[in-house]
Amino acid sequence: MFSKSLVFLKKNNLFRDIKNRNSSQGSRIIIGGKEYINFSSNDYLGLANHPALIRASLQAMEKFGFGSGSSRLLAGGSILHEELERKIAKFAGTESALIFNSGYSANTGIIPALADKGDVIFSDELNHASIVDGCRLSRANTYIYKHKDTANLENLIRKTKAKRKIVLTDSVFSMDGDIAPLKEIYSICLTLNATSYTPNTLLYIDDAHATGVLGKGSLEHFKIKPEPWIIRMGTFSKAFGSFGAFVAGSRDVIDWTLNTARSFMFSTALPPSVMAASIAALELIEKKSMLIKKLWARRDKTVRELTKLGYDIMGSETPIIPIRTGSIENTLKTSLYLLKKGIFAPAIRPPTVKEPRIRITVTAAHSDEDIEKLIKALSRYERIR
Ligand SMILES: *Cc1c(COP(=O)(O)O)cnc(C)c1O
Repeated sequence: MFSKSLVFLKKNNLFRDIKNRNSSQGSRIIIGGKEYINFSSNDYLGLANHPALIRASLQAMEKFGFGSGSSRLLAGGSILHEELERKIAKFAGTESALIFNSGYSANTGIIPALADKGDVIFSDELNHASIVDGCRLSRANTYIYKHKDTANLENLIRKTKAKRKIVLTDSVFSMDGDIAPLKEIYSICLTLNATSYTPNTLLYIDDAHATGVLGKGSLEHFKIKPEPWIIRMGTFSKAFGSFGAFVAGSRDVIDWTLNTARSFMFSTALPPSVMAASIAALELIEKKSMLIKKLWARRDKTVRELTKLGYDIMGSETPIIPIRTGSIENTLKTSLYLLKKGIFAPAIRPPTVKEPRIRITVTAAHSDEDIEKLIKALSRYERIR
């Protein structure tokens, strides 16, 4: 039934397939019996394979079993869910927090819960697909502003008469690795809220790639204090090396979300063992700032070397480092070349991005030698221009 469409994808180099590991996640992975240096994971701190997470989840499994059996609103949750929520609220400096089953389900659940018919959403054009889908599921009018363009945002927002306005942004953009101008966006929202009778402009921040990367997160990075109108979403699936997501904010926002977000209400709770792993990861992130320092040292070295070789890293400011490769064909060729050199660095193509690229993520788990191997392979590659 889909054969014609599939042929189209293949012809245009847009067909995707899945490569399954036969090893744990980490800086080295085994695929098809061969070992690769892995530059494709978002496991920024190397926690996905950390003994503390494994131990904590095993202990939780022994006490609570594996599956959770139903949604949180029935009896699917455990005291570990509650403990993680309490600890995340403390970590984020907010009144309250709520666990979601994934970042994707958080965005597709929370955004429609916050924005209804008559409300207006303002969303950065490079926001994550789950935000795009959250906007589609809400009944609010959605304006897309130009990437990080606060003048464009302010212009759109000032023209809007809607009762409730919601600004949505990734703090670290997942495919470009640049950082949102949160100070400016915060100021725009603050001014609007200060001049209205009650705060009616919400700021929703997706901190998936910032939690445990930009220190604790983007708000701390920019020294922005929590406000009742700021809603912070983050994931346990990236720097935490675990699974699931959270939303942190005022008690009202969290209570409203747990009463109305459909992806929360109508989905089975995550297993307690996953909560235990996230709690262990949170403790490590709070105690071991060394890990974050190491991540940034690796990142800075990689960027320095790539720039020296003349590669265009497309404005990256974080451990997400895209390399401009021009055509889709060239992108696939480059990825294949690296694969042959024992380096796993995925080709990112439309519709994920407009401009094809190789996307490298550097982690604290990479050794100097891993990075040197990547650089050596790229220095011998006929330069991409
Ligand atoms: C990865 C990601 C998500 C989705 O999180 P999952 O836990 O993988 O579902 C949401 N937003 C952004 C910006 C992301 O990078």
